[in-house]
Amino acid sequence: MPPRCANIRGRGQTNKESNINHYKTCITCKRSQLASEFCKCSRSKDLLNAKCKSCAKKYYERNRNKILAQKSVYYQANYERIATYKNNYYKDNKDKLLKQKRAAYSSDPKETQARNNAWARNNRDKINQYYRKYVVDKPHVIRQKRIKRRLRMLTNGVFEVRKSELNRLLTSPCVFCGNSANITLDHVLPIARGGRHSIGNLMPLCLSCNASKQDKTFMEFRMSKILQAEMRL
Ligand SMILES: [Zn+2]
Ligand SMILES: [Zn+2]
Repeated sequence: MPPRCANIRGRGQTNKESNINHYKTCITCKRSQLASEFCKCSRSKDLLNAKCKSCAKKYYERNRNKILAQKSVYYQANYERIATYKNNYYKDNKDKLLKQKRAAYSSDPKETQARNNAWARNNRDKINQYYRKYVVDKPHVIRQKRIKRRLRMLTNGVFEVRKSELNRLLTSPCVFCGNSANITLDHVLPIARGGRHSIGNLMPLCLSCNASKQDKTFMEFRMSKILQAEMRL
């Protein structure tokens, strides 16, 4: 069984079900302490862990790897049940969780961005899979986006681009990374930012650079890459 009571974080948990003022003796250090010094444990009679918080913490630190391994085994064995529970919890507490997220973001946007970027770097496959599914599941959204982009293009100004010019661009290496494979056309100033579809605003970019550039201008894209490289160090 996993150590469900080894919750040593004890983030100000209140022992609602038990009497806060009652005393309990820790089985490890044998000291009699206030109930608030014990973590909650739904399996015990008085709903409190047998070890006090500080003893539980020491135990956790000594056996960290063992506990994490047990947790991982438990998680894998009960994956579906835990996933359902988590999904339901998210559904029931959506507003609260979103509020918490927004508060955390506004208190330290840089920290959140760094964490998100790190997660994205480690989960590329997951993200690609998600996008592929999104394109299939929500074709109408993608279509709307394309229509919007077309309209933007028309209002910004579309200039005829000669075939020879297009060929020249498509046979040039990526202006960003120098790769020659999978060359696509990209707008130096994106259409979404008022850029025109004209030869002066087009450049060759490889598929992977194009995908990560999104709606950034060329300079913004370069800066973002430099920042990412710095963060990786
Ligand atoms: Zn103790
Ligand atoms: Zn490239």
